[in-house]
Amino acid sequence: MILKIDRLPIQLPTPKNPSPNDAAAVQELLGGKFGEMSTLMNYTYQSFNFRGRAKMRPFYDLICSIAGEEYGHIEVVSYTINLLLTGVSKRGMDPVSAPLSDGTKARNTRHFIASGQTALPMDSHGDFWTGANVFSSGNLKLDLLHNFFLELGARANKMRVYSMVQDPTAREMLGYLLVRGGVHALAYAKALQVYTGVEVTKLLPIPDMNNDAFPEAQRYMKDGMHRKLYTFSKEDYQQAGLIWNGTHPDDGQPLEILQGSMEGYPAPDLEEEPQLHSPGGDSFDPQMFADLAKKMGIKYPF
Ligand code: MN
Ligand code: MN
Repeated sequence: MILKIDRLPIQLPTPKNPSPNDAAAVQELLGGKFGEMSTLMNYTYQSFNFRGRAKMRPFYDLICSIAGEEYGHIEVVSYTINLLLTGVSKRGMDPVSAPLSDGTKARNTRHFIASGQTALPMDSHGDFWTGANVFSSGNLKLDLLHNFFLELGARANKMRVYSMVQDPTAREMLGYLLVRGGVHALAYAKALQVYTGVEVTKLLPIPDMNNDAFPEAQRYMKDGMHRKLYTFSKEDYQQAGLIWNGTHPDDGQPLEILQGSMEGYPAPDLEEEPQLHSPGGDSFDPQMFADLAKKMGIKYPF
């Protein structure tokens, strides 16, 4: 089962230059072959399908912990896309003035037609994410090898999107995910090493794992986020620590396993886009909820 937290792992700044084409590029990191939808669903299915976990429990716990974190990654990439798309068409209720006309210049017109100028589970080309991106062979060694490869492919894509998109919102998200992806790549390398004895970490960097070129990543490194693995569970998945231990190959600092999640930050509230009737609800009177909330003792901000 999953327990949800209404927070994002990082604080996303407001975009300096909201741009539908920047948002389209970032879509690759959500619904591309190497995007967060793929990492989330790969590890999720591998955890559901894990056989013989009594013997191999630490590997199971590691995959489950990382799967839990990937959920927050699809959220943070989606919010980045949403913020980049907020305010990029003319606001108003008059369709005759063609408030969405700028959408025809956007690389991904579905952001304006099929959604409320928000993220969709698709790649930078507008192709929908597919379950064919999930590799769950049932062979643990093969799955771990695939996961190691997947994290490195994801890193390569992130580095390229960083080079394409200069907006601070996108780069903050990228700085964070480059650091966290590094944790996952190292975790799968260590898992393969524990399992097979092969020193997989010697294959790194593929691509360059060094984050010195990314100022946004540096802050997270200072906080030690490159050394911490979270279980995303109050009590379960502790045995991931039997694999995630020792020191970080870059700085020799100790690797840490933390029960639960990072503290997180409130997700940004997305402004209304009336020309898209998003969210609509102009005739809805929230007083009804306010009255009921008072009776029930539930906090309701009205
Ligand atoms: Mn991720
Ligand atoms: Mn990952």
